[in-house]
Amino acid sequence: MLEIATASLTGDPSSPEEGLLELLCSSVKGYLDKNQIDDIIRAYHYSADAHKGQFRKSGETYICHPLSVAITLAEMHMDAQGIIAAILHDVVEDTHISKDDIASNFSVEVAELVDGVTKLTKLDNKSRAEAQAENVRKMLLAMAKDLRVIIVKLADRLHNMKTLGAMPAKKKRRIAKETQEIYVPLANRLSMNNIRHQLEALCLEATHPKRYRVLNKAVKKARGNRREIVTTIENSIKNRLKQLGLKFDVVGREKNLASIYKKMHRQKISFSNVFDVYAFRIYCDQVDDCYRILGCVHNLFKPVPGKFKDYIALPKANGYQSLHTVLIGPYGVPMEIQIRTREMHRLAESGIAAHWLYKSDDPNSGNAQARANEWLRELLEIQKTAGNSLEFIDNLKVDLFPQEVFVFTPQGNIIKLPKGATIVDFAYAVHTDIGNTCVSARIDNKLISLQSSLESGMTVEVITAPWAKPNPLWLNHVITAKARSSIRNHLKNFKQKEAIDLGHRLLEKELKSLNINLEDIEESRILQLLDVIKIDSMDKLLEEIGLGDKMPMLIAKRLSQEDIHAAIKLEDTTTDHAPLIIKGTEGMVITLAKCCHPIPGDPIIGFFNPGKGIVIHHLECRNSSEVRKKETNWIDVEWSHDVAGEFSVELKIELLNQRGTLAIIASTISSMDSNIESVSIADQDVKISVDLITLTVKNRVHLAKIIRKLKKLSITLKITRIKA
Ligand code: MN
Repeated sequence: MLEIATASLTGDPSSPEEGLLELLCSSVKGYLDKNQIDDIIRAYHYSADAHKGQFRKSGETYICHPLSVAITLAEMHMDAQGIIAAILHDVVEDTHISKDDIASNFSVEVAELVDGVTKLTKLDNKSRAEAQAENVRKMLLAMAKDLRVIIVKLADRLHNMKTLGAMPAKKKRRIAKETQEIYVPLANRLSMNNIRHQLEALCLEATHPKRYRVLNKAVKKARGNRREIVTTIENSIKNRLKQLGLKFDVVGREKNLASIYKKMHRQKISFSNVFDVYAFRIYCDQVDDCYRILGCVHNLFKPVPGKFKDYIALPKANGYQSLHTVLIGPYGVPMEIQIRTREMHRLAESGIAAHWLYKSDDPNSGNAQARANEWLRELLEIQKTAGNSLEFIDNLKVDLFPQEVFVFTPQGNIIKLPKGATIVDFAYAVHTDIGNTCVSARIDNKLISLQSSLESGMTVEVITAPWAKPNPLWLNHVITAKARSSIRNHLKNFKQKEAIDLGHRLLEKELKSLNINLEDIEESRILQLLDVIKIDSMDKLLEEIGLGDKMPMLIAKRLSQEDIHAAIKLEDTTTDHAPLIIKGTEGMVITLAKCCHPIPGDPIIGFFNPGKGIVIHHLECRNSSEVRKKETNWIDVEWSHDVAGEFSVELKIELLNQRGTLAIIASTISSMDSNIESVSIADQDVKISVDLITLTVKNRVHLAKIIRKLKKLSITLKITRIKA
């Protein structure tokens, strides 16, 4: 979007926009049908109406700009949808018309294209001093799910560059720099050479106006001086080629200003050295003709050895095809000759844009993406036949299907995330607090869940709630380091709080059994204890109890005793207790539930059971989920790190009902360092016997090894672990 100056309508009947429309129509007539052209004219009226009263800085009515963009695209034989999108490309940004309006008046496809261009235009207006040009290029490609968005955007940029006009020099330079860094390489990548050359020249003009003027003058002068010799060479080539009896065109060719400048600058050589080469291009219809013409010109003038390049048989990395040769012309001047078919030329000039109409009579060609893929496939084909490296395709794939997505905040800020990132990743990328309190999100006014993954171009509004907390399950579907560490950090702090609570409960319980209330203990006494055991605060002590680093029974005993120091003795005599089974439960009676037989490594949950201590259930145990609904005094528990011992577990084994099978099972189990506690036959028929075996294991890994070994036996049909 460029600034719009408001001025009054002049009401000129033979207006420039009418002229431009005519130009556009005559251009599309060459390759589009009448219905499509009617749609284009309708789009013109629609857009002109919407932009009514808006003017470009130059004073032209605004509609001249989108029309000029459309003309550029028509010259590249862009399809009708692309042309219509070009005509409408600024209406969403600059007028009251919405994306939905366009969808209902034209098509969803056109609406999507306009929306894509609008989003890219918004990017232009952002300061991105911190963003690297390469990232922005990738971003542009990523944003444009439909590559035509980029093509329209390039044509838009071209016209804006052409009409920089009376803008302040500083601003011109800024826009030119951005064009040079972002849009020129994009045009190059998409092999749209025509647009690239024009952009480069315009950038040079904007950034180095003086040098541009001097160079331009020099080229014009040299062109005048050379006219005669160019005509002589052209005629002698034409005369000779006529004898071949095929259709061709010979065109004198000049290097464009930007590349002359680049070459002078890079090689530190004078203008005359760069320009002192005569160059011609010969176009023909058939690939075979290219080689015949080559033979003919090599016959006419002496070729320079080592300068011949066959880019038809071996196309350049970006798909470019042509024959190149250098000849010694009359008066000994070197001449560069390029020979190619008209189709090769069209592809070289328009690049990817030319491919949207490729095989347009194909009924399936309505799908632009499919055609883009076809383009890729064709390039791949070229590479294959050329036996060349696939580097170009790889690069292109990186660009077209990058590993990044770019999404917007409602304020229009861009957030870059790795592909596959979810709403939670996004929320944390915006701000840790937003991540910590997010509950859902809205995308395009639709509510979506936090697990949903993001796509480039989405505008994401995160919905937060003050009571919301990070969920440990989020760790399963976030992919950014920031989200992961923020969630972990929060959970850790949260756990600390939990640990203090648990420690508090455990200590109180212990004290109660000694008929003491924690609240009744004098503060000085607590401070004395903290001093003796070298812990900073009561919270820290409670946390350590909760985490299983201090035994609540001992702390309680110390607090109950007259002489705190005397209690050390007691502790000393009782420290070599058996390894803890469950973290944070010192001094508690631990029972492993008989219904589900939890073993170390299982996800577990604990219940406070008055009189029984804590009963540990498997998290998936049906009983536990029942109790969980009714009871509130369940706690999160964790296996202790140094848990050791034998734990019972129950397996249901389906076996072939043969003699001695149970003995094989039993010996296999005992060979795995496990004991069978009980065996019962649950069901039996002639063929199959279903046995319930209770055995002991050290932990889940041990159990898994045993099950694997049992499964390998030929008599085993099925093994399941019983978890109630
Ligand atoms: Mn525009």
